[in-house]
Amino acid sequence: MISDDLFKEALKVLPGGVSSPVRKFEPHPFFAKKGEGCILYDVDGNRYIDYCLAYGPLILGHAPEKITSAVCEQIKKGSAYGTPTKAELELAKLVIERVPSAEMIRFVNSGTEATMAAIRLARAFTGKDKILKFEGAYHGAHDYVLVKPGSGAAAAPDSPGIPQDTTRNTISAPFNDEEAVASIIEEDDNIAAILVEPVMANIGCIEPEDGYLKFLRKITSENGILLIFDEVITGFRIAPGGAQEYYNITADLVTYGKIIGGGFPMGALAGPRRLMEHISPAGDVYQAGTFNGNPVSVTAGITTLKELTDDLYKELNKKGEIIRKGIKDILEDNNLEFYLAGLSSMFQIYFTQEKVKDYTSAKTANLEIFKKYFHSLLKGGVFVPPSQFECCFISAAHRKEDLNMTLEVVEESIKRAVKQ
Ligand code: PMP
Repeated sequence: MISDDLFKEALKVLPGGVSSPVRKFEPHPFFAKKGEGCILYDVDGNRYIDYCLAYGPLILGHAPEKITSAVCEQIKKGSAYGTPTKAELELAKLVIERVPSAEMIRFVNSGTEATMAAIRLARAFTGKDKILKFEGAYHGAHDYVLVKPGSGAAAAPDSPGIPQDTTRNTISAPFNDEEAVASIIEEDDNIAAILVEPVMANIGCIEPEDGYLKFLRKITSENGILLIFDEVITGFRIAPGGAQEYYNITADLVTYGKIIGGGFPMGALAGPRRLMEHISPAGDVYQAGTFNGNPVSVTAGITTLKELTDDLYKELNKKGEIIRKGIKDILEDNNLEFYLAGLSSMFQIYFTQEKVKDYTSAKTANLEIFKKYFHSLLKGGVFVPPSQFECCFISAAHRKEDLNMTLEVVEESIKRAVKQ
C-alpha cells in the first residue's frame, strides 16, 4: 500500500494531496512510477492499460522512443534560451501546414494561457467585452471561463476568488441549442466571441449535432463576433487539422494545448494574420511568457506532429471503432441502454439512458454506477479518467490485444457496476 502512504504524506504538503483536482479519487489515487507505451505502472506494483493518457496529450503513448531521444538531445543543448529558435519556426510551419486557417501562431505554456490570450485578443479586436461559452465546457482555470465549467471544475462551478465584475462578462448557453445562442446574441450587442469546444470533451464526449457548428459560424459572422474553437483536446487528435478539418468549419481563432507539446507543457493560439498581428510585439494586445516556445516542448511537438501521418490517424480511428463497437456489443448483449459516445480515438460511456447532447443530459448519468465501473476497471488493470465527465483516449501504442483485453475488463466491470 505504498500509494496509500504517499497520499497521506501528500495531503500534508499538496492541497488535497494532488497538483490538479481531477487527479484525486477515493480512497486515494495511485502514484505513478513509469509509463511505457500504453501501459502505466504504479508504485504498488500494478500495471494499467492507460486510456487517460495524461488527459489527452499522449497520442503516441508514454515515452515514445523518438520523442525521448529528440528531447534528450535538446536538453543537452539547453532547456530555455529567452531568444527565438529555429525549432519554433519549424513547429509553427508544421501547424500552419495542417491547419489552413492558421497563418500565425503564438506558443504559450498551457491550454489555460491559450484561451486567456484568445479572449483578450477577441475583446481588443472587436472592442466588445463579453464572451459566450457553453455549459459544461472547460477552457482552463483562469477567471474569464470558470462559469458553469466542466472537468474537475464542475465540482466547484463558482469558485470563490473570482470578482463578479469578471464573470459578469461571461455568458453560458446550453450546447447544441441554436435558439439559446440566437436569443442571447439578439439581446446583447456586447459579445466579443463565442468560445466553443467543438467536441465537448470535459463533460465526457459530446459531439456537435449536424449543422450546429455551421450555425455558430454563421451567427458569429453576421454579428461581428469572433468564433474561437478551443481545440486543446480535439487539435491534432480527430484529424491533422483538428475539428476545423473534421467538421469543415473555419474558426477565427483556435487554441491548442496537450498534443501540440508532445507530452510536455505547451499551448498555442493560432489564427489569420489580420487577427494575430494584434498580439505584442507586432501589435498592442499583450501576451508574454518566460517559457513561451520552450525548446524542449517545441522539440517534442515537432517530433509528435511528424509522426502523425494520415496512416496513423486511420489506425487511431480504427482502434476507436474497435473499442466503441466492442462496448456497443457488450451493452446490447446485456440489455443495457447506456449512452455510448465518441469519435476518432475518443470515447465515453454515460450511465444514463438519455441521449447526451449537453450538460443537462450528461448530468443525468448515474455517478454511483460510474464509480463502481471505474474501480472495477482499475482492479482489472484498465485506467480511465476517474470521472464520468472526462473523455477516454486511445494512443498509437495501444495494440489490438490491449484493446481486446480492455473490452473483457469493461464487460466484467459494467456487469459488476450495475448489479451491486
Ligand atoms: N481547454 C480545453 C478544451 C481543455 O480540455 C483544457 C484542459 N483539459 C484546457 C483548455 C486547459 O488546458 P491546460 O490544462 O493545459 O491549462
